[in-house]
Amino acid sequence: MDKEKIYNELKKILDNDEIFIDEHMLKHTTFKVGGPADILVRPRTEEEFCKVFKLLNDEDVPYLVKGNGSNLLIKDGGIRGVVIEIADNFDEIRFEGDRGYVQTGALLSEIGQRAMEEKLTGFEFASGIPGTLGGALAMNAGAYDGETKNFVHSVRVVDREGNIIELSNEEMEFGYRKSTLIKSGYTALSATIQLSHGNYDEIKEKMDDLRHRRESKQPLEYPSAGSTFKRPEGYFAGKLIQDSGLKGYIHKRARVSPKHSGFVINSDGANATEVIELIEHVKATVFEKFGVRLEEEVKILGEDPKLEDSTSEKDSEAETSEKAIQEKVISEETGKNK
Ligand SMILES: Cc1cc2nc3c(=O)[nH]c(=O)nc-3n(C[C@H](O)[C@H](O)[C@H](O)COP(=O)(O)OP(=O)(O)OC[C@H]3O[C@@H](n4cnc5c(N)ncnc54)[C@H](O)[C@@H]3O)c2cc1C
Repeated sequence: MDKEKIYNELKKILDNDEIFIDEHMLKHTTFKVGGPADILVRPRTEEEFCKVFKLLNDEDVPYLVKGNGSNLLIKDGGIRGVVIEIADNFDEIRFEGDRGYVQTGALLSEIGQRAMEEKLTGFEFASGIPGTLGGALAMNAGAYDGETKNFVHSVRVVDREGNIIELSNEEMEFGYRKSTLIKSGYTALSATIQLSHGNYDEIKEKMDDLRHRRESKQPLEYPSAGSTFKRPEGYFAGKLIQDSGLKGYIHKRARVSPKHSGFVINSDGANATEVIELIEHVKATVFEKFGVRLEEEVKILGEDPKLEDSTSEKDSEAETSEKAIQEKVISEETGKNK
């Protein structure tokens, strides 16, 4: 990719303050790891999204679409190409009767809160998942017997060439932690969600109960991407990991959570390489003990750091500055969560 050329073209479409060069992905993921993206953009209108996709398609530029980055593990070498973030730059929520019209950058927690205020039920299970509506549509995110598929009426997507298409619930092909978005390359821009009229107190009680269950079982005080592995058929990943003797296992600055063995956490300022090494160790140990192959639920993307760089003086400086950014981001986030 000709970075300067693409940057100049993007400047013709987007506000300058929504274009970032060499942007550290650790600032944009809940794992708080990941090297720089060549360019990161945050379009604010449907028209801007269409123009950006058309440009990237015409110029043959690789891209990654992300929401809140709560299911991403970006490698330390970062992302070549353009990252398109859909978060608070595109997060309008509007309800009419029992239907919601929601842009995909809206956080599930915010949609849940608004649905509760409208006395609408059917969204409670999702409101504690720390992602955007877009991430939930892509992953068919689910919890406590609910899944995204249950509340989706239709989804407005943009294809790689910048054309808008409407997909029905069936056309979304929702499955276990997947939908057509992952395989087709469509990007979800907004969705119509179908809820039911309910009772405010009952909705609130359910949301409070689910939040307490999450807080008591999950290591929410540490950066992570939630459950690291998919549920293998007939087993629970956390139980297999615990029975393999890996509960609380520490590898460099990453750890298997002592609170929930299904979570690999960034316990002490780890980089992506350390987290991935630990994931590989967990997979190998579980396979050796039980013959079960664990598969990552978290999406590992990006490039490995260049080997020769890690010994050079320049790069040790870069690492120190990256560490400072990571410490700042983690301490700001911890402060926010208090
Ligand atoms: C503490 C914690 C608890 C969690 N609990 C749960 C849980 O209970 N259940 C569960 O299912 N998950 C859980 N997760 C994982 C994660 O929150 C979900 O997978 C969530 O749906 C990801 O949303 P996101 O916006 O962060 O997506 P991202 O992580 O940014 O992206 C995930 C995938 O979605 C794609 N994507 C994002 N937005 C769009 C879009 N607009 N159009 C097309 N593709 C898009 C990305 O390309 C990527 O492939 C948890 C994570 C954490 C950190």
